[in-house]
Amino acid sequence: MRNIPDDLNLRIPGPTRLPAEVREALAQPMIGHRSHAFSEIHGEVVDGLKEMLRTENDVFVLTASGTGGMETAVVNTLSPGDKVLSVSIGNFGERFRTIARTYGAEIIPLDYEWGTAADPDAIGSALAQHPDVKAVLVTHNETSTGVTNPLKEIAAAVKARPERSRRASGYAPPLLLVDAISSAGCIELETDDWNIDVLVTGSQKGWMIPPGLAFITFSYAAWAAHEQSTMPRFYFDLTPARNKLPANQTPWTPAVNLFYGLAAALRLMHQEGLENIWARHQRVAEYTRQGVRELGLELLADPQHASNTVTAIRAPGGPSTGSGQRLDIDGLRRRLEQRHRVVLAGGQGPLKGRIFRIGHLGDVNEADIDNALAAIREELG
Ligand SMILES: *Cc1c(COP(=O)(O)O)cnc(C)c1O
Repeated sequence: MRNIPDDLNLRIPGPTRLPAEVREALAQPMIGHRSHAFSEIHGEVVDGLKEMLRTENDVFVLTASGTGGMETAVVNTLSPGDKVLSVSIGNFGERFRTIARTYGAEIIPLDYEWGTAADPDAIGSALAQHPDVKAVLVTHNETSTGVTNPLKEIAAAVKARPERSRRASGYAPPLLLVDAISSAGCIELETDDWNIDVLVTGSQKGWMIPPGLAFITFSYAAWAAHEQSTMPRFYFDLTPARNKLPANQTPWTPAVNLFYGLAAALRLMHQEGLENIWARHQRVAEYTRQGVRELGLELLADPQHASNTVTAIRAPGGPSTGSGQRLDIDGLRRRLEQRHRVVLAGGQGPLKGRIFRIGHLGDVNEADIDNALAAIREELG
């Protein structure tokens, strides 16, 4: 087998570095997924996730990547033909929309230029124009552009009672379905206080464990919608998952050893404290942005909404700058990995070849950023 260097500086927005405690936990012997031991671990991780997601809602641990969690959100709450307001500021907003469209939802798109954030007032206006919208799809942190949406304000706009329904009884606001895959456990997020009905996140981002698990929260209103929902589903149907929850089990065979790792990671997070984790991510992100500017490079994100988990950097040069050839991003990334063991991400979709990205989420500190920026400085000469 190929040996992976122990000192790889994995600066991509997931998968992220595994702390030693997590790697040790992952290597424990296998147990049966119907055993008492597994149920104990399941109970521990669900409690830990509720703490980190600030919710009393049901939390499910799915054996799937984050995208599976997004699909779970859609197929368990909606029916074909339902109107959905799909807010997109980048690649992952488009993915959420594509999933909903694939299952027959009627999409009302609300798009923003990549690098900018969504406007809560515009979301409120769109909902006033389309009072029959069943759900709003939003990305909390758009990993493809390094932009964080103002989710608290967006949630307030989604849940505000419109003027004309003040006296009408039985008004129900749209459901709010949130892709928080690259923000939860890193960036300020209040599932219950902000009224988020369904929130999805993924194990390989801020949670410091390998890819393979998705976490999803489900509110009372989401369960009410689930009762009416007719989208086809089987593996991702939350009814069997809900039936197994009281026994602290999952309907299908879960990725057992990832649960070991998750329990270890959640203990580390509990020790550090959620608000300290948020503060560290903010500090390291500001440190990263400052360092990038000092290299003379330009940031993609609107500074008011720059992400605390991933920083997107424009490739220097190119026709618009009048300074000749645009920097070869893939070449730079190759040299960084081969000569410095620093791994960065490229751009996605229309930003491919135009930006590169530094992930700073999960187990990360200023020294990791110093190491990455020094390598970039050397390679850019
Ligand atoms: C990583 C990511 C996803 C996709 O997750 P997978 O685990 O690759 O399926 C979706 N949305 C956002 C915002 C992400 O960062």
